[in-house]
Amino acid sequence: MLDIMDKKERMIDLAGIIKSCQKCALSKTRINAVVGEGSFDSKILFIGEAPGSNEDRQGRPFVGRAGKILDELLESINLKRDQVYIANILKCRPPQNRNPNKNEIEMCTDYLDLQVDLINPLIIVPLGNFSYQYIFEKYGLPIDKISKVHGKTFKKQTLQGVLYIVPMYHPAVATYNPNKKDELLHDFKSLQDILNTISMRTMSR
Ligand code: URA
Repeated sequence: MLDIMDKKERMIDLAGIIKSCQKCALSKTRINAVVGEGSFDSKILFIGEAPGSNEDRQGRPFVGRAGKILDELLESINLKRDQVYIANILKCRPPQNRNPNKNEIEMCTDYLDLQVDLINPLIIVPLGNFSYQYIFEKYGLPIDKISKVHGKTFKKQTLQGVLYIVPMYHPAVATYNPNKKDELLHDFKSLQDILNTISMRTMSR
């Protein structure tokens, strides 16, 4: 197991590599690569899709409208941003916020895989379809419609121990569909239940 200093150094090294990445054409149009932020020791890793214009300008994940909703959702279960880690499938903004393409996902998720290895979370929360599909493929889980699986807990045995995966809708959907916000709030309550169960069993894996 990595000790805390070792982990911090590796996360900082990785951030430097991501910030200067030129593996794909998005590096030519970005202002900032958005590495991710939060606690390197978090039990929970949230994974969004890709930076939007606010994130691109500030170099931080989820700082625009979707970020405001994510903050509210975290607050609804008494979590603060600095207690979790927030990353994205793509580290650079696709022009006009278009969907990530296959090639971009393939190249950029090398970085996400390293973040997952270093943070070693107990719970991964993929936010939205792209993240859900990537994480389910990565862990060999069968893919259904996100409308069927959101808020459900999927358990995966890994070399590090049990990993819980709880896919959810992307918080941005709540900006144009208020019903989805209720579903997200409900799904966050399930996340809180898992967290409570885990902490009752001690935080070790
Ligand atoms: N949407 C995402 O998926 N990620 C961000 O960082 C911001 C908006």
